[in-house]
Amino acid sequence: MRKKIVAGNWKCNTTLQEGVALAKEVEKLYSEKGDKNVVVVLGTPFTHITEVQKTVSNVGVAAQNCAAEAKGAFTGEVSAEMIKSTGAKYVILGHSERREYYGETSETLNKKVALTLQNGLTPIYCCGEALAIREAGTQKQYVINQLKETIFKLSEEDFKKIVIAYEPIWAIGTGKTASSAQAQEMHKDLRDSIAANYNKAIADQTSILYGGSCKASNAKELFANPDVDGGLIGGAALQAEEFLGIVNAF
Ligand code: PEP
Repeated sequence: MRKKIVAGNWKCNTTLQEGVALAKEVEKLYSEKGDKNVVVVLGTPFTHITEVQKTVSNVGVAAQNCAAEAKGAFTGEVSAEMIKSTGAKYVILGHSERREYYGETSETLNKKVALTLQNGLTPIYCCGEALAIREAGTQKQYVINQLKETIFKLSEEDFKKIVIAYEPIWAIGTGKTASSAQAQEMHKDLRDSIAANYNKAIADQTSILYGGSCKASNAKELFANPDVDGGLIGGAALQAEEFLGIVNAF
């Protein structure tokens, strides 16, 4: 059975002290009353990873990005190998904010995915369409094309290690969630496209998370869909109780 996953994306929020306190609280709540069928991941800023990693044991840690190069003269970059050396197990890649504000292209993302996999880390690979594309009704082709240009080029062996996060850009941080039906429709389309590109067994094993203004109050409806395997959570991941409410929404 494929994994249910709820991953927080803290973005550029929290000081180190605030982040460690938040991670401690999530770890405590999850250990005491969290659904243990759900894998929980905290996507922290780079500066926090090592300390957060030391504080948690039942909860995993993710970086929110990694360098497109293995090492060398790339000032300010953090490599996949460095992330691995902290003990973190996941890397969020291709978030729409990185594509939009930092010019990440499919070409860059292919390098990042490869380095992440080479270091034994799990990519949480984001895809999703902007509002204009949704309004034009071409979201399915657009999102599948994002996968065709990147992770669909991986070998079967490598693709099996990928977690996908479908995040309609118009729903991120806007308070406007995709309806349960819209989420299910896209997730099913993505699963079908995985089956077409690889095979049904691989499609059935791939966790596809939904992201975009997911909260404890709407997670139940979203997660009830057969093809929605959890969430990538922005704003609501910054409050431990709210985040746990999402973890327990299956
Ligand atoms: C995100 O940025 O990955 C996200 C889903 O944000 P939010 O939950 O705040 O919409």
